[in-house]
Amino acid sequence: MKGKKMDQNNPYEMAVKQTENVGKLLGLDQELIDFLTKPQRELTVNFPVRLDDGRVRMFTGFRVQHNFARGPCKGGIRYHPNVSLDEVRALAMWMTWKCAVMGIPFGGAKGGVICNPKEMSQGEIERMTRRYVTEISMIIGPQKDIPAPDVYTDSQTMAWIMDTYSMNRGYMIPGVVTGKPLEIGGSKGRDEATSRGLMYVIREAAKVKNIELKGATVAIQGYGNVGWHAARLLHQEAGCKIVAVSDSKGGITSRNGLDPIKVYEHKQKTGSVQNMEGADNITQEDLLETECTILIPAALENVIRKDNANKIRAEIIAEGANGPTTPEADRILFDKGIMVIPDILANAGGVTVSYFEWVQNLQFYFWSLDEVKSRLLQMMTEAFETVYGIARSQNVDLRTAAYMLAMKRVARAMELRGFYP
Ligand code: GLU
Repeated sequence: MKGKKMDQNNPYEMAVKQTENVGKLLGLDQELIDFLTKPQRELTVNFPVRLDDGRVRMFTGFRVQHNFARGPCKGGIRYHPNVSLDEVRALAMWMTWKCAVMGIPFGGAKGGVICNPKEMSQGEIERMTRRYVTEISMIIGPQKDIPAPDVYTDSQTMAWIMDTYSMNRGYMIPGVVTGKPLEIGGSKGRDEATSRGLMYVIREAAKVKNIELKGATVAIQGYGNVGWHAARLLHQEAGCKIVAVSDSKGGITSRNGLDPIKVYEHKQKTGSVQNMEGADNITQEDLLETECTILIPAALENVIRKDNANKIRAEIIAEGANGPTTPEADRILFDKGIMVIPDILANAGGVTVSYFEWVQNLQFYFWSLDEVKSRLLQMMTEAFETVYGIARSQNVDLRTAAYMLAMKRVARAMELRGFYP
């Protein structure tokens, strides 16, 4: 990477850059930085799937384990036509930092399959999932690497993963994957966990910025699992006004506020949030530039870049997505005084409740929803306070502070374990 200009569209280059910058700031040895910027293990699999019409099509999938100094690897599986090895590498690295920021005993991993689930039948998705899991099964497991949902995968996908892994071993192994349905070992509160965690850190951020959340305006990019639950929770539990939302087809806005549940039902019915009665259609770009108190990118990477960062009119950005902001945009936003709650903190509620689910699976003992919520609240609040404290004392933005905390923890674990042999 040295001397080469960073490709704004390559998330792995972005992740490496962020890691190198903070590594230097922390005064880490170059050897250690080299270790931390490379995934420890990468697996690419090409495999056949029989389609409904009888033809067989080849698919390509990945599972990348970035770092396992602090525990087994953890991270979701993404189904998307634009999945690439570099994207999965970046996402795996971010998982390492996310788990370290939260202090949960996992390293980072991520998986992905290049496919368009919107154009596939349930049967095709099931066969693809089962074959992909079989292909990567030698490197996953409850003590090795524990997948979870991500973009366009859900609790049903996790059920197939658990079943496939278990069938090949002859007994049920719920701890191999998290985000499962409740009936087969899932945790209460996992489906909304990312968004609930997001709401908890937004509350803390609003406190330090002296912003009243009740009546505060919110714009959300993405209306999948994270975006929709965030809209619902911020509306119902924090009293916020949702003024704009979008999905991959476009967005809608209403200065009077949208009803998140009505928008959800409309999307279920029509396939998109657009063309909703009482709201005006807008584009994805319009959404990011909406005047609001809180902007939540909850879709994909690289959406807030140097070309649009200047046009953002929010006071707080809470990253529900992984990697939505490029390093150049970060600088612009910092100079504008916009607080960015970084992905590795803001959306860590998902992996935190995944950790709770894994613990419950290993113990075969299940928690109440109240217990899940109160432990999540405690961990998110504590993580925010620690990161905010570092940002204040070091005069850096929250992302740099979160990276400093995470990288210190991972580096310390590696130092204690030593370089084998
Ligand atoms: N895919 C989610 C994330 O990016 C959840 C990962 C997990 O629960 O392991 O954090």
